[in-house]
Amino acid sequence: MFNFDGYTKLVVFKNIENQPIQEVHGQNIPKSERKCIFCGNENAKFTKVAHAVSETIGNKSLISHFECDECNQNFGKMFEDDLGKYMLPYKLLTKTFGKNNQLSSKDMPKEDGISYGTYRIQLNRNKPVLENIDVKALIIEAKNTGIIKLDNDKIEVNIPRQHYFPPSIYCSFLKMAYSIMPLNLYPQYVKHIVVLQQLVSARSMYQSVELKKEIMRSMENCGLFCFFPGQNPLKGVNVTLWKSLDSKEQEYPRVLFTLEMKNFSFTIPVCADDEQGICKMPRFLSDMEMQYGPLDLQNEEKIFNCEMSGETIDIIDYKLLEDELRKNNLLK
Ligand SMILES: [Zn+2]
Repeated sequence: MFNFDGYTKLVVFKNIENQPIQEVHGQNIPKSERKCIFCGNENAKFTKVAHAVSETIGNKSLISHFECDECNQNFGKMFEDDLGKYMLPYKLLTKTFGKNNQLSSKDMPKEDGISYGTYRIQLNRNKPVLENIDVKALIIEAKNTGIIKLDNDKIEVNIPRQHYFPPSIYCSFLKMAYSIMPLNLYPQYVKHIVVLQQLVSARSMYQSVELKKEIMRSMENCGLFCFFPGQNPLKGVNVTLWKSLDSKEQEYPRVLFTLEMKNFSFTIPVCADDEQGICKMPRFLSDMEMQYGPLDLQNEEKIFNCEMSGETIDIIDYKLLEDELRKNNLLK
């Protein structure tokens, strides 16, 4: 159980990695009659499947009949790359593969024939990482790189991220929030939705990249981050839209959006057009073991750090491991 005090769940989609395909508003509108909630373009095309929530974070089921091809493509182009880089450590730790069958984080090779310079983290969905050893995950590093630290009963993992623009992550979450929002709420959010659409549009009123970045930096870019230890405690990838029960309350945003990914949750304020810059998050109630802190989407977090419990088992014939690593150009 996890709840925000004074809020109710307005929209909930659970385990979106494994559900059958469904239109997010429960509609089935013929392509010729669809309208895009982002651009409102009369001539918009709807030939492709628009995912209401990014596939990168594991959504396989939620699609939208209210997002046109152009907006879908533009949102992807503008935010997906940053979102992927930011989310990679969470995806690695929760085995959330998204569109691919492999997740990997590595630095650039320094020498020919060696496929990593200092570290390589790889996770495969279906097949073993090394041919003759049955493991689906591999962390390998040069001595004292600090990617992995072993203690008696803990493993500390430090996963470096590639350079990303933090406000893009806030915009990605906002786009997901708008996509699952009940249609009758849109009039209260329309100005903010237009800003988001203009940030990605090819015919944007914001003419330079610098101006777009400035606008993105001026957004809320805040929220609540939670970590829940254990084996898939949040039961999959879930998205929730929360609504305040007290519509006059000005201290907190009236609507919040939460993305849950098995062990991690990200909650952001979704400000209506008459709200702005409300970053204060309401009190929450949880009966689950958890840690929490502010979600900072203003500043880059170059290295993701996480502690896990683990046990050491002597499974591998060292010689066999060495041979396999050499064969795969992972060891000199
Ligand atoms: Zn559109």
